[in-house]
Order: sequence, then C-alpha cells, then structure tokens
Amino acid sequence: MAKKEQELSVEEKLKTLFQLQTSLSAIDEKKALRGELPLEVQDLEDEIEGLKIRIDKINNEIDEFEKAINDRKGDIIEAQTSVQRYKLQLDDVRNNREYDTLSKEIEFQQLEIELCNKKIREAQQKIKDKIAEREKAELNLDDHIQELEMKRNELDDIIEETRAEEDHLKVKAKELESKIEPRLLTSFKRIRKSARNGLGIVYVQRDACGGCFNKIPPQRQLDIKMHKKIIVCEYCGRILIDPELAGVKSNVSADEKKKTRKRSIRRKKDEE
Ligand SMILES: [Zn+2]
Repeated sequence: MAKKEQELSVEEKLKTLFQLQTSLSAIDEKKALRGELPLEVQDLEDEIEGLKIRIDKINNEIDEFEKAINDRKGDIIEAQTSVQRYKLQLDDVRNNREYDTLSKEIEFQQLEIELCNKKIREAQQKIKDKIAEREKAELNLDDHIQELEMKRNELDDIIEETRAEEDHLKVKAKELESKIEPRLLTSFKRIRKSARNGLGIVYVQRDACGGCFNKIPPQRQLDIKMHKKIIVCEYCGRILIDPELAGVKSNVSADEKKKTRKRSIRRKKDEE
C-alpha cells in the first residue's frame, strides 16, 4: 500500500477520528434497526430444517409400521391356509394320535393368527400416534414458514430502506479511515470494539468522559483542549476530544432547546 504522503496534525487526526466515529455510529444505528431480525431469521431457518427432518423420520417410521402390518397379514393368510388344510385332514384321521397332533397344530396356528392380529393392532395404534405427531409437526412447520416469511420481508424492507444510506456511510468511513495512520486506526477500532456503545472517541461532557462519564481532572481537560497529543480516558481508554474541535457545541444547544421545548409543552399541558 502507498504510504500517506503527509502526517496529519493531532488536531486533524482527532477531527478525522471523530468524523469516522460519527459515520460508524450511524452505520451501527442502521444495523441496530435490523436488531435481532437477522438472528431470528437464521433461527427460524434452522428450526424449519429440523422440523422437515423430523417429519421425514416420522414418515419413514410409518412406512415401517405399514410394512410390518403387511408382513403380519401375510403370516395370517399363511396360518389360515394351514388351518384349513389341517381341518380337511381331520376328516381323514385314522387314530387319536393323528387327531391330537392336527388339533394342536390348528390351535397353534390360531394362536399365531391372534398374535399377528395383536401386533397389527399395536402397529396401527403406533401409526395413529405417528400421524398425530406428524400433524403437530406440520402445523408447527406451517407456523414457522409463515413467521419466517414475515421476518424476512421485514428484514428486507429495513435493508432496502437503509441500504443506500448505509452504503454511502461505508464509503465515507473508508475514505476517512484511509486518512488515519494504521496504528492509530487499529487502536481506535480496538477501543471501539471493546466499548459497549461502539464509541472509540468521545468528547468531554460536563468535565467528564463522554463514554464512561468519569470526571476528568482539570489538568487533563486542559491538555485535551490544547490538542497537542492524543489523550485517552484513564478509566475506559476511549480517546477524548474537545467538544469544540468535534464540532458538537451546536448539538448540545440543540439538546438544551429540545429540553426547554419539552418543558414548555409540559407547562402548556398543565395550564390546560
Ligand atoms: Zn471514559
């Protein structure tokens, strides 16, 4: 990469960092607008995948029960055929022993038929249970698919709405980043990452750090005002900038104005 031809003055560095912070915060805000939606969409997609797998599994189980029922039905027909054959043979028995043997065979085959019928009933009950389970899963799946579509649309709308602005902000941020020396940029990004509100540089507010709101000693405040070197908050590590240099004086007064307006509205309401 080409080295930057000229180093910025501390003042310019701070200003550029603050502008970068403003752009990045605006991007953060757009992202916050999307909120949990991307995660929720991902979760729903995962759950839908899981439900589909479960339904497939249930279908396979039902198939197996049906196959088992068919097998048992085949066994019953076989047993019934045997019973019929044995019954015919009963007509031709020559002695008691043959009669007893055939009777026992018939009894055995009938027990076999009973057992098969019992197994079939059990399997049918299991199929019923599985169908109920599948219905539940299918309802659940429908709900999830509907919800997913809703959330996806919602997310698409938000992304669509903010895309142009966000792209513009990203370009601006890149531009500003290219002006800042890599080491300073890296440490700024590190501070920003570890800070909860994503602020890597803050201005002094009411003698305190605008990030963690700890008081700044007067001498340090003076140093900040001088902007001869980059000063960080001794509590939170954020880079500190004089509000005037940050160009936020007007913002503060706008806030104040808002407050007074609110107050006057409230007063008006009270008078009503
Ligand atoms: Zn601080």
